[in-house]
Amino acid sequence: MGPLSLTLSVVVPIYNEEAVLPLLVERLRPVLDELREPYEVVAVDDGSSDGSAAVLIGLARLWPELRIVRLRRNSGHQAALSAGLFRSRGEYVASIDADLQDPPEKIPEMLRLARTENLDIVYGVRTDRSTDNRFKRWTAGAYYDLIRRLVGKNVPRHAGDFRLLSRSTVEALRELPERAPVLRLMVPWIGFPSGQVTYTRAERAAGQTKYPLRKMLLLAVDSVTSFSAAPLRLATWLGVGGVGLCALLLVMTMVVYLSGHTVPGWSSLFVATLFIGAVQLLCLGLLGEYVGRVYTAVQNRPPYFIASDSAALAAEDDGLVRNAGR
Ligand code: UDP
Ligand code: MG
Repeated sequence: MGPLSLTLSVVVPIYNEEAVLPLLVERLRPVLDELREPYEVVAVDDGSSDGSAAVLIGLARLWPELRIVRLRRNSGHQAALSAGLFRSRGEYVASIDADLQDPPEKIPEMLRLARTENLDIVYGVRTDRSTDNRFKRWTAGAYYDLIRRLVGKNVPRHAGDFRLLSRSTVEALRELPERAPVLRLMVPWIGFPSGQVTYTRAERAAGQTKYPLRKMLLLAVDSVTSFSAAPLRLATWLGVGGVGLCALLLVMTMVVYLSGHTVPGWSSLFVATLFIGAVQLLCLGLLGEYVGRVYTAVQNRPPYFIASDSAALAAEDDGLVRNAGR
């Protein structure tokens, strides 16, 4: 079997999703079977600590196209997605969350669009987020506005990680120096011909969100610092403002000195010290954010470790020992 004999790979990152997995298979499988083309589903188990691993093995027994890639520990949504993407073998690669918030029925539509219009990227775009709560909608809106400013207008608003990529796009992503790129930024940045398929986002089918506020904030900070040095410029502007303020205060001091009221200066001194201290800390923090990124990039540590891949195991069984590493 040649590597491109599969026309479609569907990558599903999974972290503690034992409750939704059977529902996912129930909806995804008929859709893919109906295509009547060779496909694989790459389920990336992102170090789940619940019964997901066992449930997956049970499901794969009944569904030969289900391939299980297990990561050794929880590495995060983006890393799990990259792991699945870089191991997939299909001519086209779709990615979809496990929780059925994105409709699997749209995948054939994406594939059709990509083929007829010869597109490399098809985004799934949410037209209606009324099932997300107001806070999620508001933070998501702010996030997309921000990244459209950073990356450019070809970032579709409200396109999450439900999308279809061509093999050449996946290979281009693999060429990037980032080990685990923020995919929803890097895909538009690559800027290959793209189209959209719209859908309404549903409620999570079962289980709890795996994206608490902390992870959302981390994604946002990562998105900004990986695309822009503008926050560092903030430090420069604060410095310029501080110098201006100091000049003003100097004039004031002279006036006060010359008019002989030098003693009552405590509050202004106190405020100035606090202000300058705060600005310095802020700028140090900003610098630290980028130094940290440089440090991580230099370390070049793998963002995830593969524990097992059922496709590699199957190949070994056939006597075809394939190189399982990247
Ligand atoms: N996920 C993952 N690793 C993590 C967190 C989440 O692989 O550390 C997966 C999760 O199983 C789901 C997808 O990423 O398939 C999106 O997570 P979730 O639906 O919880 O995010 P939300 O839709 O609430 O933003
Ligand atoms: Mg979800």
